[in-house]
Amino acid sequence: MQVGLVTVGDELLTGDTVNTNAAWLGERLAERGASVERVVVVPDRIADIARVVNELRADYDAVIVTGGLGPTHDDLTMEGVAAAVGVPVEEHEEAVAWITDHTDYEAGDLVAGTTHLPKGSRMLPNEAGVAPGCVVEGIYVLPGVPEEMEAMFESVADEFAGEYRHVRVVEADEPESALVERVAQLRERFDVTVGSYPGEHVRLKLQSPDEDELDRAAAWLRERVDST
Ligand code: ATP
Ligand code: MG
Repeated sequence: MQVGLVTVGDELLTGDTVNTNAAWLGERLAERGASVERVVVVPDRIADIARVVNELRADYDAVIVTGGLGPTHDDLTMEGVAAAVGVPVEEHEEAVAWITDHTDYEAGDLVAGTTHLPKGSRMLPNEAGVAPGCVVEGIYVLPGVPEEMEAMFESVADEFAGEYRHVRVVEADEPESALVERVAQLRERFDVTVGSYPGEHVRLKLQSPDEDELDRAAAWLRERVDST
């Protein structure tokens, strides 16, 4: 299953907030065997959100959008997603009922807009906050606050699945450029993908759904690189 990720917020673009939601979701989805194919950061602007959501939903099985759910002037994600699927936003009765049952808020206390969701969407309750998320046409809309986003993702995690890809890491104490030929041979001989991450040592990350094939590939490579 391939997933596109849209993280919404001016503060992410200016660097005031580090995009930890993208990293967290990338890791959780990979664990489940779903792969994130794109991460896009967009400003708090309806047209930008709608355009990117539409682009990604044309290409991938699901889209996850995080951020901009509250009732303040810069929370425009629901409008953007509604525009992407061509429906209005409207008061969601189930969202109002959930909040009045599970939080200290009365319906009358809620700032207008908090419970406005794209028409026809499935409401996702916010177990760690107030503003609800939703699912509409394969687009999952989650909060920006990491704790709220993580709790809401867990409630739909089962909807993201794929073939789990095992991982083996081989460390090489050689310049990355010196390894090119051996990595090419590895990829020819074995049905694995290889990522190369230079640092103090070069970390070669091998992945495959077939664990035996992966172990053979990792053993083959370990015999052929210098390690400390
Ligand atoms: P609220 O209802 O509190 O307004 P929200 O769902 O509208 O929440 P935002 O307004 O976008 O979310 O962001 C709320 C907080 O979460 C901000 O402090 C923001 O910096 C942080 N946040 C938003 N997006 C991300 C992200 N991608 N990674 C890490 N933190 C984020
Ligand atoms: Mg907000």
